[in-house]
Amino acid sequence: MNCAECQLLFCYQGIKDGFPGCPMEDRRFFDESLELLLKEENHRFFLTSSGIEAKGYGRWPRALEIMRFCKDMEYEKIGIAFCVGLRKEAAIFNRILKEHGFLTASAICKGGAISKEEVGMSDEEKVRPGKNEMICNPIAQALRLNHERTDFNVAIGLCVGHDSLFYKYSEAPVTTLVTKDRRLGHNPVAGLYLADSGYIKDAFSEAMGE
Ligand code: SF4
Repeated sequence: MNCAECQLLFCYQGIKDGFPGCPMEDRRFFDESLELLLKEENHRFFLTSSGIEAKGYGRWPRALEIMRFCKDMEYEKIGIAFCVGLRKEAAIFNRILKEHGFLTASAICKGGAISKEEVGMSDEEKVRPGKNEMICNPIAQALRLNHERTDFNVAIGLCVGHDSLFYKYSEAPVTTLVTKDRRLGHNPVAGLYLADSGYIKDAFSEAMGE
């Protein structure tokens, strides 16, 4: 059973036994996950994040949830990894973090000024062929924030896949404040709501070569 296709949601109702094909038939994954959640390195982090969910449920914007989580975890220095296209948003978050007593460090995606040619991209693969374009360098963003010894990192608008590399190389835990979606005002869920209609439906088919 694919959980995304399930209509029964026994798990949500607290029915542990599941049903034929439900992953809960085999308790191993869940027992193992519980052991990991209770490990010292995860337990406080997990309880604090669950507490934030309850404290601000439906009222706090995500930026505030992140800041309160950092406060409750007693983090002092927060890293911001941001896209050049969202530098205004990064500046706002940086400012409000500082106003509420945090130290900050930040790393823009274009740090290092490495050209797309230097990593083997052709002119045709650029956003604007013929122009001098710099790469996004999510690994440099992670290494810089590691060097700054941040306690927790926040991603703002990193590209698909660049975000994955940032998560991979960041030593501090990471959360995402803004998920980039240039077409939909950085509100990617709108792409799901519109997936069966008009222009967006056609765009899915065209881009997937169908
Ligand atoms: S765990 Fe079982 S009950 Fe829960 S969503 Fe998946 S298939 Fe459905």
